[in-house]
Amino acid sequence: MPDFNDNSLPVLVVATNNAHKLSEIRAILSRNFTVKGLADIGCFEDIPETAMTLAGNAEIKARYVKEHYGFDCIADDTGLLVDALGGAPGVHSARYAGPGHDSQANTELLLRNLEGIERNDRTARFVTVVALTCPDGSVKFFEGKVEGIITTRQLGHGGFGYDPVFAPFEAPGLTFAEMNQEAKNAISHRGRAIRALADYLLR
Ligand code: IMP
Repeated sequence: MPDFNDNSLPVLVVATNNAHKLSEIRAILSRNFTVKGLADIGCFEDIPETAMTLAGNAEIKARYVKEHYGFDCIADDTGLLVDALGGAPGVHSARYAGPGHDSQANTELLLRNLEGIERNDRTARFVTVVALTCPDGSVKFFEGKVEGIITTRQLGHGGFGYDPVFAPFEAPGLTFAEMNQEAKNAISHRGRAIRALADYLLR
C-alpha cells in the first residue's frame, strides 16, 4: 500500500496529470495522504485507454504506473452517461468529438446532439470508477455516481470537462461549473468514489 514520506503521511500516487482532478482528490485526501500526480513521479506519457469499460480503463492506468514506475497507485476513469443518447458518450467521454478535440468541442457536440430535447428527457449521470493496485498484484475498485440533467447551454466557469452543462439534482439550479470545489466534491461522482477509497484505506 502507500509508501511513507518525510511528513510521515503515506504517499498516494494518482495516475493523472489533470490538475483539476488532482485538486479535487487532494481536497479529500490531503489530511491523511501526500497525493502525487504523474508528473511528480516523472511520468509524462499518455497512458492508452483501450478498454470498453470505465473499470477496465482505470485498471489499465493503475497497472501501467505500477509496472513502469513501481508505485502502488490509484487511477480514476469517468464517463458521462446521457439517457437520451443511449448512455453516450459514456466510456468515450474524453474523445466524444474525435481524437485531438478538447473539452469545449466535446461539450458543444453534446449540446448539439441534445437540441430539441425537453428538460425532463435530458437526464444523465456521471460515473467514476477508481482502481487501486494492491501489493499482492490484485486491483480493488471504488465507484461513485451523481444524477442530474444536461442544461441547454453552458453555465459557469469553474470545474472542467462537461461541468458547465451538468446540473446535479442535489444542487437545484446550478451546474457543477457554478459550484465551488467543496460543494462539487460533496456530491460528485469523483468525490463519492474517492471517499469510498479513503474509507477502505483508513479502515
Ligand atoms: P477521464 O476520466 O479523464 O477519462 O474523463 C473522461 C471525460 O470526462 C473527459 O472529457 C473529462 O473532461 C470528463 N470529466 C471527467 N471528470 C469530470 C468532471 O468531474 N466533470 C466534468 N467532466 C469530467
